[in-house]
Amino acid sequence: LTHLTTYTTDSFMVLDEQARRNLEVFRGARSGTVEGSLLSVIDGTVTPAGGRLLRRWLGQPLLEVDAINRRLDAVGWFTGNHLSRRRVIEALRNVADLERLINRVRSGIATPRELITLKRSLEAVPGIIASLEGADAAALGWFTGGLRPCPEVVDLISRAVVDDPAASPSEGKVVRDGFSEELDRLRRIATDARQYLAALEQKERERTGIKSLKVGFNNVFGYYIEVSRPNLKQVPPDYVRKQTLANGERFFTAELKEYEAMILNARDRIEELETSLFRQVCQQVAAAAERILTLAGALAHLDVFSSLAETAVRYRYVRPVLDESHVIDIKQGRHPVVERSLEAGRFVPNDTYLAADDAQLIVLTGPNMSGKSTYLRQVALIVLLAQIGSFVPAESARIGIVDRIFTRIGARDDLAAGQSTFMVEMVETASILNNATPRSLIILDEIGRGTSTYDGLSIARAVAEYIHNCERVRARTVFATHYHEMVSLADYLPRVRNFNVLVKEEGGKVIFLHKIVPGGVDKSYGIHVAELAGLPRAVLERAREILAELEKNGRPAAGPVRKEMVTLQLPLFGQKSPVEEELLNLDIDGMTPLQALNRLYELKKKASERQKS
Ligand code: ATP
Repeated sequence: LTHLTTYTTDSFMVLDEQARRNLEVFRGARSGTVEGSLLSVIDGTVTPAGGRLLRRWLGQPLLEVDAINRRLDAVGWFTGNHLSRRRVIEALRNVADLERLINRVRSGIATPRELITLKRSLEAVPGIIASLEGADAAALGWFTGGLRPCPEVVDLISRAVVDDPAASPSEGKVVRDGFSEELDRLRRIATDARQYLAALEQKERERTGIKSLKVGFNNVFGYYIEVSRPNLKQVPPDYVRKQTLANGERFFTAELKEYEAMILNARDRIEELETSLFRQVCQQVAAAAERILTLAGALAHLDVFSSLAETAVRYRYVRPVLDESHVIDIKQGRHPVVERSLEAGRFVPNDTYLAADDAQLIVLTGPNMSGKSTYLRQVALIVLLAQIGSFVPAESARIGIVDRIFTRIGARDDLAAGQSTFMVEMVETASILNNATPRSLIILDEIGRGTSTYDGLSIARAVAEYIHNCERVRARTVFATHYHEMVSLADYLPRVRNFNVLVKEEGGKVIFLHKIVPGGVDKSYGIHVAELAGLPRAVLERAREILAELEKNGRPAAGPVRKEMVTLQLPLFGQKSPVEEELLNLDIDGMTPLQALNRLYELKKKASERQKS
């Protein structure tokens, strides 16, 4: 923490938890992780600080056109300067988490290796600055001011710490030779003494004639001369016994004792001195913390901008135009995440025109699985991307600043909080109606589905009328619904526009075209989707009959009980069917795969014969 700044929520778009979840901004709904989220598509950052900054921006889209344009200018510069972008991204790969490192240095808990990582990161800075040579000051100047290398810090760490230091200064081997005269002197003593001991072993072997004599060291007993049992009688009288082993004895001599003291003393001093020198170096580095943090901030910005530009170039995003109008005008918009999950060129782009005083409320009807939800979210995601300063997946986009994105999507129980599906739906709807403003964007994916048809439809219509008529709300809204009756809202509400998603029926098959076109529809093809999902044929056929009745008479006829439905029903009590009987008696473990397959064919044959009879 270096200084405090204040911000008001007025500077940011409100993106509540519900919107984040529904729009899958940070987490994919299915995976529960970043996979399948907006973040996963646009995040190409290569440094931890860049990643953090991007996540912060995604959670706090901006409201000021100038501030957004500043970011867009920077992204724009990188989209146009491929070589610089590539170089910056490559150089940034060598930058570690400077913020975290410098904070650890300041708190006195950095390890020698972390100091080296800090140095390596700082060493990457001149290369990054060089890659930006000739950069448009108007586009990048507002944040590149902090992009100053810290050569004295690099120099200090280079002089003080070896390239591959031990994990802790107390292990020695951290401070570089030549950095401290005193340390060098102590190290010389330790090395000389070690050499001396090696020579002593040779000398004693010759003096005593014991070829296997060894000079060694352990942490408990220090230095010793070890003689094996058969040679003990050759031990000279000046050897003093230190320790008895199973197959020999250890001794010391006055001379060895003296050297031991010298080495151990030098070792302790080396440890102490290295630790204290390392601390001093850290303190000196910490003195540059403010500058390093500013630098880290500038590098994080560079990371985010070059990454957003990389995404924009790779996926053909364009620069949005932002203004203070109440318009959203997107040409050939695409859903950033869904388009990535499809083969190239398979995603069908769609236009959107919303304006608070013109096409304020789009009623989107269309079959199940046609792409309504995708379209709704795509509009919201394009707005969100535009307001964090990113390019957007579209041919062009004009966005009148949105102060809040409201989403009401899908059915979800919150049983733990004592709320049923329908209650959750209504609580969310109430919050939208109470808080939306003419600057907001409302995305409604079905309302009123959790209750009876008439209740639901009545609520859905009333909600749409309120959004349309209430001056305080009047938000730009896309309302996807299966209530075809909603289409008639356009007859008496002037700012309602009907759109639907095209499907083609060909030889009894339904083909989803995913194209949004003006007008409403009166068919859902729900039964078709149920068929795709694998509902039993008997159920599908009966559903078609009921639907036909409903469409004709307004209510379902009791109808004859279908034979298939009865045979499909499992007996509650009583005997098992012969097929079940056989299944239960099968010894699967004792069968080969081929035998199992053959039995499966037989069973199927039996079952279908039974059904026919
Ligand atoms: P339901 O009414 O059943 O909820 P829906 O109309 O909301 O369905 P989506 O969930 O949006 O349908 O889309 C269904 C599938 O269609 C998506 O998973 C996607 O694979 C595909 N899809 C949607 N939009 C497009 C598009 N514009 N281009 C290509 N494929 C699309």
